[in-house]
Amino acid sequence: MFVGHFAVAFGAKKVVPRTSLATLIAAAQLLDLIWPILVLLGIETVRIDAAAPNPFLKLRFVHYPWTHSLLMAIVWGIGFALGYRARTGYGRGAAVVGALVVSHWVLDWITHRPDLQLAPGLAPRVGLGLWTSAAATIAVEGLLFVAGLAAYARTTRPRDRAGTWGFWGFVAFLVVAYASILAGGEPPSPQVGAASALIGWALIPWIAWFDRHREPTPRPE
Ligand SMILES: [Zn+2]
Repeated sequence: MFVGHFAVAFGAKKVVPRTSLATLIAAAQLLDLIWPILVLLGIETVRIDAAAPNPFLKLRFVHYPWTHSLLMAIVWGIGFALGYRARTGYGRGAAVVGALVVSHWVLDWITHRPDLQLAPGLAPRVGLGLWTSAAATIAVEGLLFVAGLAAYARTTRPRDRAGTWGFWGFVAFLVVAYASILAGGEPPSPQVGAASALIGWALIPWIAWFDRHREPTPRPE
């Protein structure tokens, strides 16, 4: 899943308005932020399937238990939550960011073909395979995305123009990136595919910037 992970992070702002959206998105995307690094280091393996029937299936996730097994998602989630709590002392925020890390695995379990392990070393592979229908994937992710954005746009309001245009510019970027996945071909090699996934890291400062230029919307009495 792609924009669906961003959607749950946007929606989580409603529960923990004090937590930066950048932290929420980093949590929801943590497994996909670490994954390209492990692929480039040769620890996890992905293959390109040029003959895939739709764009969502172009990557064959051969081996990625350190980022994408259920057990490791929980381990990363606990680590992220403890780190966040140590830095901020905000217990509710820590619980939510930990849950967001694990939500990544759950959403991937819904979308991926059975290629996800429950723990490193365990043979069974799980995945409900929403990706086998491009139309169903776009419908589910699109609905999630709109719901998440609506929650964020209601929970926060811009302090200034950066808070408006930085946010909507980011939304436009995600829509264009999603459309280019649908329209684009496969990457020339797994390494190029992984290297381009590193762009996720560059988005974090952008998100932190526009989120700082927004503030919680006052609740009606
Ligand atoms: Zn993933």
